[in-house]
Amino acid sequence: MSKCQDCKNEMLDHKSCFKRVYSDGKRLYNSIPYGEGEETKYIDVDSPDYRYCHDCAVKKGQQHHYGCDMENCPKCGGQLISCGCDLSIVDQSEEKETKINYQFGVKATDKHDAEVATIEASNLKEAKKEFAKSFPDDVDNIDVITSDNGYEEIR
Ligand SMILES: [Zn+2]
Ligand SMILES: [Zn+2]
Ligand SMILES: [Zn+2]
Repeated sequence: MSKCQDCKNEMLDHKSCFKRVYSDGKRLYNSIPYGEGEETKYIDVDSPDYRYCHDCAVKKGQQHHYGCDMENCPKCGGQLISCGCDLSIVDQSEEKETKINYQFGVKATDKHDAEVATIEASNLKEAKKEFAKSFPDDVDNIDVITSDNGYEEIR
């Protein structure tokens, strides 16, 4: 039996660790859960054999426990404990989510020229909602979304 030094959960209980936000001093990166990183290239995380992370025992979609050797670096995709990216944890609690700036590029239409709106939100879904509130006419006309977070999904 061993306890995670971050969330203090017993690893064999198969509970998720905290969602971590890492920083390299320039950009922020969300921690990559089990089953969403490079491991999907060489193991089938849906098969019973890989139901739990072999090192920290979390389930698919859960955050690895601190120091797990399966956790991928959100910056380079390598093994976080050995990749040398020198990331620091900037926020360890699930409650205090770090805000990310999302830039919504809107296609030029007859009505107006192309424009960019910047929305601050904790995740892409929330950012899209906020965008729809502020720019209901443009919501179907989004061309590109970028964020200042290296890992967040970009459409
Ligand atoms: Zn793990
Ligand atoms: Zn943990
Ligand atoms: Zn790395």
